[in-house]
Amino acid sequence: PEATPVESEPVNNLRSPICCILGHVDTGKTKLLDNLRRSHVQEGEAGGITQQIGATYFPIESIKQKTKPVNKKGKLEFNIPGLLIIDTPGHESFTNLRSRGTSLCNIAILVIDIMHGLEPQTMESIRLLRDNKTPFVVALNKVDRLYGWHSIKENGFQDSLLKQKKAIQREFRDRVDSIILQLNEQGLNAALYFENKQMGRYVSLVPTSAQSGEGVPDLVALLVALTQTRMSDRIKYISTLECTVLEVKVVEGLGATIDVILSNGVLREGDRIVICGMGGPIITTVRALLTPQPMKEMRVKSAYVHHKEIRAAMGVKVCANDLEKAVAGSRLLVVGPEDDEEELADELMADLEDLLGSIDTS
Ligand code: GDP
Repeated sequence: PEATPVESEPVNNLRSPICCILGHVDTGKTKLLDNLRRSHVQEGEAGGITQQIGATYFPIESIKQKTKPVNKKGKLEFNIPGLLIIDTPGHESFTNLRSRGTSLCNIAILVIDIMHGLEPQTMESIRLLRDNKTPFVVALNKVDRLYGWHSIKENGFQDSLLKQKKAIQREFRDRVDSIILQLNEQGLNAALYFENKQMGRYVSLVPTSAQSGEGVPDLVALLVALTQTRMSDRIKYISTLECTVLEVKVVEGLGATIDVILSNGVLREGDRIVICGMGGPIITTVRALLTPQPMKEMRVKSAYVHHKEIRAAMGVKVCANDLEKAVAGSRLLVVGPEDDEEELADELMADLEDLLGSIDTS
């Protein structure tokens, strides 16, 4: 079948930043992701959000739609081609996206329940983000749970806040102040994003409701602004391959496959690849590169679209022999014409101890 053009073409030589969602259980990570995925753009039209392997791709057209409520004057510029959000929120996928101490996750959303404040896994997430020097924003979720809150669906947060009764605005302030104090105790400076004058030193708090969609436009706009202004050198499109194994999965009819996040460069069918395996390095050849069939094509027999090559940033399923013992979190290297397979394998296997160590503590 014809390959669907889901790859993100680099724009201004920037690739799509990769974003992870972390936080305590039940804070609304999954629901937030679901809200993000809900597109205002008609199915089939240009700018549709696409499901990838292990990630959802938000092309810039859908981001423009999402941010409309907070970008009425059109001040926000869009220089990135899109945004790739990892589908499984939580520690594990974040941990698997690390390679040699640096994280492939360019920016993270730490979700805190505004009614609960900091919880045990919030602290853990902060520690993980810090250790990996990953920039992040905080979504103060469930603002609709403030007693008496009147929801305005998918609205910009500041406008929604202005329309609440005075007592509710006060309760909101009190809760925010208390969470800022709790974050201070963790050694973090924090401020509401619209009052944050020092983005580099203060973590931005974005009040959201995954239920009503309020504040989600603000959150997306902030992610765009931050990735473009503060990390444009980290999201430059380069031809050097940067790729990590997110998960190892056995699929009926395909056998053991690896789901990878290609964060830079190009991966091709037929490439000779090296990854870490439990019993030693795995050196094999890419048999197929797959992404999910778009929703409207579900009547097509195969669940996947085949690609001859794939360009970053993308979530892809890789089919090849001998993947049974692949290790999640391993880097994936392509053997170039000048490379020595064994040397690459040694280099990769040196990461293994680090990888297994991180699995134990997560
Ligand atoms: P996760 O464990 O962090 O992924 O949390 P979920 O997304 O599964 O949400 C946990 C529960 O909180 C579910 O019952 C959600 O419906 C609910 N929830 C999540 N976000 C909101 C929100 O913004 N407002 C309200 N009222 N409920 C929410």
